[in-house]
Amino acid sequence: MQSNEPNNLENSKPRILTQKRSTQARKLELSWIIAISCLPLLAIATAFGIAPQTSISNIVVKTIVEEVALPVLENASSESFTPELFWVTETIRRDDTLSSLLKRLNIHNEEAYTFLRTHHDASPLASQLKPGQTVRAQTNANGKLIELHYQINHDSVLEVASNDSGYFAKTNALVFSKHTVLKSATINNSLFGATDEAGIPDAIAMQLVDIFSTDIDFQTDLRKGDRLVVAYEAEYNEGLQIKVGQVLSAELTNDGKTYSAFMFRDPQGHVAYYTPDGKSMHKSFLRSPLEFSRISSGFSLGRLHPILQTMRAHKGVDYAAATGTRVKASGDGIVTFVGTKGGYGNVVVLQHASQVSTVYGHLSRFAPGIRQGAKVSQGEIIAFVGMTGLATGPHLHYEFLLNGEHRNPVTVALPSAAPIPSIHKANFLAQKAEYAAQLNLLRASNFASIE
Ligand SMILES: [Zn+2]
Repeated sequence: MQSNEPNNLENSKPRILTQKRSTQARKLELSWIIAISCLPLLAIATAFGIAPQTSISNIVVKTIVEEVALPVLENASSESFTPELFWVTETIRRDDTLSSLLKRLNIHNEEAYTFLRTHHDASPLASQLKPGQTVRAQTNANGKLIELHYQINHDSVLEVASNDSGYFAKTNALVFSKHTVLKSATINNSLFGATDEAGIPDAIAMQLVDIFSTDIDFQTDLRKGDRLVVAYEAEYNEGLQIKVGQVLSAELTNDGKTYSAFMFRDPQGHVAYYTPDGKSMHKSFLRSPLEFSRISSGFSLGRLHPILQTMRAHKGVDYAAATGTRVKASGDGIVTFVGTKGGYGNVVVLQHASQVSTVYGHLSRFAPGIRQGAKVSQGEIIAFVGMTGLATGPHLHYEFLLNGEHRNPVTVALPSAAPIPSIHKANFLAQKAEYAAQLNLLRASNFASIE
């Protein structure tokens, strides 16, 4: 993985630079025209500049500095006047037609238009102009299409090229190269604010929440200045990040205390996170069966029931959430009940090891495959929030029972999940050392990211 990296970077970066240069060149040309048309004004400014007024002479100096940037312009303009080939990358817009897109891609030859519009093999482009997707085209100076790449989805790309008998198109599988991406972020307001700023994808931020959630409550515990360092898998095609995979390692410093997590993928492909010495980062139960939630009614032995208007114990926790919010199994277990039950409305009951059962009420619907006797694993989506049964608004009613007795799910002591199995311990420690070295590298360098 590591040894590939420098090669791939060198392959991809110049291409990105070339693409960027064409738009940059246009901008430069434009600014050059503006600069020329401003010349008479500058002359006047210079005339005034003779007076010992530092502010005006500063302006003149600035203008000269801009003109020094000319060599770049020369380079760029020679590119557009010689019959060289160049790539243009365009993002499909919501109101794009095939012609408007091709125009922006600088494609002007009739043969290409006809081929792309009518040929069956090219139809993924003509019939599936997906806003937001990018199209790359290589043309010559006369606007003749040489080559075109359109990424149809996560896995495949439409490639158009020509030979002696004209244009042809084929759909190919995207070739990915895997990289490890290292990023660091400082938290000012929220985790997501920090990850956005550092360019860490949401999918990775969500994993971080899951990994550290037994140690840190991301809604209340974060402090300004907390720091995050993370290494994660990403797959690239032609230098563009196409998808992200798993967090490999992460370090979160919260209020002066540092938590580290290292991923281990067992030979069956199961992923779990461990502390540096191999203890599980996970508990055998999730604290909350919802991804993000706010407790709207806590566990209580006596409260006024909002609908029945009588004092009743509330032997669970209510999580306010929009209808349709995904409900996760809080631990590995077996479905012992799925259906409707009085005030609970649609409800799922799970039986877990160590005499624990959990109850999920007021559901709008159940996830596919959730039936009595089905095995579920921790974090698996079992149902969706609703307001069936006795409920004043959409929320999840969640109960945690130990030996048949209700416990407060928010405060009950949750057992840790099993540590790294001893047969994998040596592998884990070796891999951990490698990951830790990567994190150290980023922490020690002045870079916020290494891709
Ligand atoms: Zn409730």
